[in-house]
Amino acid sequence: YKRVVIKIGSSNLVRDGKVDDEKIKNLIKIISKFKKKDNIEFIIVSSGAVAVGKEKVGISSLKLNIRQKQAMAAIGQPYLMRKYKENLENNNILGAQVLLTSDDLHNRTRLINARDTLLEILHYNAVPIINENDTVSTEEIKIGDNDNLSARVAAIVDAELLIILSDIDGLYNKNPKNHNDAVLIKEVFDITKDMKKNAGGAGSKVGTGGMITKLEAAEVCMKFNVEMVIINGNSLDNIVDILNGKQIGTKFSP
Ligand code: ADP
Repeated sequence: YKRVVIKIGSSNLVRDGKVDDEKIKNLIKIISKFKKKDNIEFIIVSSGAVAVGKEKVGISSLKLNIRQKQAMAAIGQPYLMRKYKENLENNNILGAQVLLTSDDLHNRTRLINARDTLLEILHYNAVPIINENDTVSTEEIKIGDNDNLSARVAAIVDAELLIILSDIDGLYNKNPKNHNDAVLIKEVFDITKDMKKNAGGAGSKVGTGGMITKLEAAEVCMKFNVEMVIINGNSLDNIVDILNGKQIGTKFSP
């Protein structure tokens, strides 16, 4: 692989209302290793800003209105970014904060702008850390979830692979939280109505999209010829396995 997008969601990053510092540290270590070993360019799409904001402000309520969420994201984002920056710095890598809205990916001029800037950042060997720009994203114009955002980013920069980290091993034929006999689907060539019907919403308290948004992301990837995998992010060794070419999780082949 030459260019890889990694999406890490709140269900992997947030533990007891706090961002898991060890997770970020390990993620950056892995990225650093593969940058050196195989010259891979990485882009990270990271959630977690709202959780950090809530922690800093001292709100523990699970139900925030949109305005409150936007404020928490704005307060949390620089703290989250600092964690990434510190870990990148420890590995002699530069980071870059990129906040995008749905508008940026639908309007052609802005899309090309975003793409060219991302490519320029990669040119300096820096790692873009992307999140949705919540401050200006109202409900109507929101991309809404980082699964979709990460797929669009992977498509515009012509990435070869999108790795979506989840709190589960991959896509199952039905929601394993409700069905004991659910079976992991190892490879998908075509997203069927049945898969969508059996893909529920967010399973964890902090997760947002659930499997539905991951299937939407897979559709974008298939359309733009990007390979996508869903793997369990509870162990980041799974990223290493994928980058070494091992087949784990669910692979969506374009
Ligand atoms: P993330 O923060 O990683 O995006 P989510 O909680 O949003 O996490 O999504 C993963 C969850 O989706 C799983 O833990 C599971 O409960 C739920 N889910 C619903 N349907 C399925 C399915 N068919 N296969 C796998 N997981 C499913």
